[in-house]
Amino acid sequence: MSSVLSTSRLRRLPLVTLYLTERCNSRCVTCDYWRHGRLDASLDFIQRLIPSLSSLSTRVALISGGEPLLNAQWHEIASLLKGAGIKPWLLTSGLSLAKHAERASQLFDAITVSLDGTNARTYQAIRGLDAFDKVCEGIRAAVSAGSKVGVRVTLQRANYKELPLFVDLARRLGVNHISFLAVDVANPHAFGRTDDFSSDLALSTEDLPVFGDSIAKLEADRAADFESRFIAESPAKLRRLQQYFAAVQGRAPYPAVRCNAPEFSAVVGVKGAVQPCFFIAGQGAAANEGDLESVLNLPAMMELRDTIRAGRRPECVSCVCSLYRDPDNVDELLLP
Ligand code: SF4
Ligand code: SF4
Repeated sequence: MSSVLSTSRLRRLPLVTLYLTERCNSRCVTCDYWRHGRLDASLDFIQRLIPSLSSLSTRVALISGGEPLLNAQWHEIASLLKGAGIKPWLLTSGLSLAKHAERASQLFDAITVSLDGTNARTYQAIRGLDAFDKVCEGIRAAVSAGSKVGVRVTLQRANYKELPLFVDLARRLGVNHISFLAVDVANPHAFGRTDDFSSDLALSTEDLPVFGDSIAKLEADRAADFESRFIAESPAKLRRLQQYFAAVQGRAPYPAVRCNAPEFSAVVGVKGAVQPCFFIAGQGAAANEGDLESVLNLPAMMELRDTIRAGRRPECVSCVCSLYRDPDNVDELLLP
């Protein structure tokens, strides 16, 4: 297989992220989508994208937003993708998953649910809603319906002490795996933020050794869960999260980033705006007519990828979502 990294021009796009809506039914403190989001992607628009996705050999579509299940056409969109040989992977808050579990399980090859607390109080403090039980009900329903379900936890000051409890909860819910990432406090433009963003979401200096001890204990107590990848991150990766928070507090450099996400994936907004990744805007490039391949290969987009590849984008230094895939095995490693 030829490398997808060999030139600036993208000829293959194994993974695409599609935002189905900018609306959301969560009220996360980290995010502005629920405050400002109004727009949905249309079935027509996704239909127009299909020939380009086929030509780019897209294998997996991460269906995101906002909350994608708020788009009234989510099932038609997922069916359309599936019919084109593209595996849809749902990223959801899980708030309406109980209602949609049967149909979602038939349509999505994987479902990832964001779950930021192990009890109603923590969940509400972070997600802004008294919906912990509802989300757990949705996860159980999707598991019962046969879905491959993963739980994703955004670690932050309000929940990091629950680290081992998250693993227990994930076991009780019957999911396939649990993964952790750090709350993003460094990028002012992620999550639809329109104002300057500052808060005390990050771990404080006093929290850092407590978090470190918690990771060490998890490593000792849950060796089998790391080994089986039930906990998706290795202990070393969890320690990178600790270093990230140390960097936020000015106590360490940010962990070194290795990322080639823009070489094998792209993010497409509800109206066609194309980004090389979640955190970096695409300089106005838009695939309104579904012409994703030509948009990805506009001189400005190729130049942008060159800049990212050369390590000249400041967003990459403090990125919480860097992603590296072996270019010769990208396809096999896309779904969680
Ligand atoms: S972080 Fe996600 S789930 Fe939370 S409000 Fe924003 S889009 Fe919704
Ligand atoms: S490191 Fe982060 S900001 Fe940089 S290209 Fe990768 S995903 Fe985007």
